Amino acid sequence: MNFDVVIVGAGPAGLSFARSLASTGLRLAVIEPQDATSLENPSFDGREIALTHHSVHLLRQLGLWERIPPGSIHILCDAQVLDGDALPGMRLDHADGNQPQLGFLIANHLIRRAAYAAIAHQDGLSLMCGERVIGIEPGRERSRVRLSGGQTLTTKLVVAADSRFSETRRGMGIPADTHDFGRTMMVCRMNHEELHHHVALEWFDHGQTLALLPLAEHQSSVVVTLPPVDIQGLMAAPDTEFATAMESRFQGRLGRMNLASTRHAYPLVGVYPRRFTGERFALIGDAAVGMHPVTAHGFNFGLLGQDLLGRAIRHAQAGHTDIGDQRYLGQYARDLRRATRPLYLATSAITRLYTDDSRAGRLLRRAALSAGAALPPLRRALVHSLTQAGDSRAATYPLLGLLRSLLP
Ligand SMILES: Cc1cc2nc3c(=O)[nH]c(=O)nc-3n(C[C@H](O)[C@H](O)[C@H](O)COP(=O)(O)OP(=O)(O)OC[C@H]3O[C@@H](n4cnc5c(N)ncnc54)[C@H](O)[C@@H]3O)c2cc1C
Repeated sequence: MNFDVVIVGAGPAGLSFARSLASTGLRLAVIEPQDATSLENPSFDGREIALTHHSVHLLRQLGLWERIPPGSIHILCDAQVLDGDALPGMRLDHADGNQPQLGFLIANHLIRRAAYAAIAHQDGLSLMCGERVIGIEPGRERSRVRLSGGQTLTTKLVVAADSRFSETRRGMGIPADTHDFGRTMMVCRMNHEELHHHVALEWFDHGQTLALLPLAEHQSSVVVTLPPVDIQGLMAAPDTEFATAMESRFQGRLGRMNLASTRHAYPLVGVYPRRFTGERFALIGDAAVGMHPVTAHGFNFGLLGQDLLGRAIRHAQAGHTDIGDQRYLGQYARDLRRATRPLYLATSAITRLYTDDSRAGRLLRRAALSAGAALPPLRRALVHSLTQAGDSRAATYPLLGLLRSLLP
């Protein structure tokens, strides 16, 4: 029961990270409460993950990309952002970048399935299902990790990927700034009469936020954000009533609509910890950065973070240093903070602004969107941040990209 790295949580971030350490020769344990069958064949959970080009590059490196059925990879060409009834809003056009599309959409359960398949027979990896981590005792040489089944593991490093509500982060005494948006997001697939032309729609309407994510030709993912009580009504509505309600909320943009999947609801809570590391301890995935999904960056940041931590560990190994050494963990924490903090703050600000239905709020967001539409550098910076691929340490995200593009 001695390991080099114990990974807490076999979600997409934890499994991707386990995969990225495959060639290091380190002994890994992944601890997960769910059983192996649920990990191998996860069911549809309503989430369609918009992936940047950099994330696709990382998924290819990890050997996950080729495990996703090509027919389930949907192209995201452009995106249209609307505010209430005001037209034209802001359009993010792939032509402002250097790629034939802004990004790709893949169902979350297919990413999870691919991640499991990639690690299922990995040498040196022990997957412990049906177990929770219930306690961590950091030590000078090794940490001790207590499991719900009664076992104790020892390890040089614990990596927590146990969701934005991470119990291990809390157990390690790392405070986190948490913001409950007081809204719930409902997601499902719907078939529709009209074509979407592979354009995503983000519509900040009065009292509701709506989104359409283009999937197959006549199918989109429908995303509705409302106060929890209104979402309960939509979740409980009979299928035909629900479809009529969606046609009306989307003002018939896609013609007649029919429900094509189960419906799923997610309460919206943003989380950003004060630190990403502790003694022989690091956070990745949503446990590190729990984004509001509106800017579609949660798993993109999860992939980025696991890549940065994997690099830090390989650097430590190359220098024949302890992989739990704070110098390397510190570098990881700085890199991740630099890449994620601006967008985390911007997303929270945007979400507050676009759910503020006061007159001042409406005027401010109209001004913001018009400025965005009228400022090609802003639009190009956003497109650039989605379409670039390459080195994670050099990755820039919208606000950093914007600053860069405004500088001479
Ligand atoms: C509606 C919606 C839409 C989204 N759209 C996008 C998008 O377009 N683009 C994007 O990049 N991201 C998007 N995201 C975010 C993305 O889904 C998440 O960032 C990602 O799934 C988080 O993965 P994770 O592995 O960090 O955490 P999780 O998927 O939450 O997995 C955590 C794992 O830890 C396990 N666990 C919990 N406690 C313990 C414990 N004590 N011991 C051991 N294991 C434990 C859990 O069982 C679970 O398997 C969206 C999210 C939502 C809700």
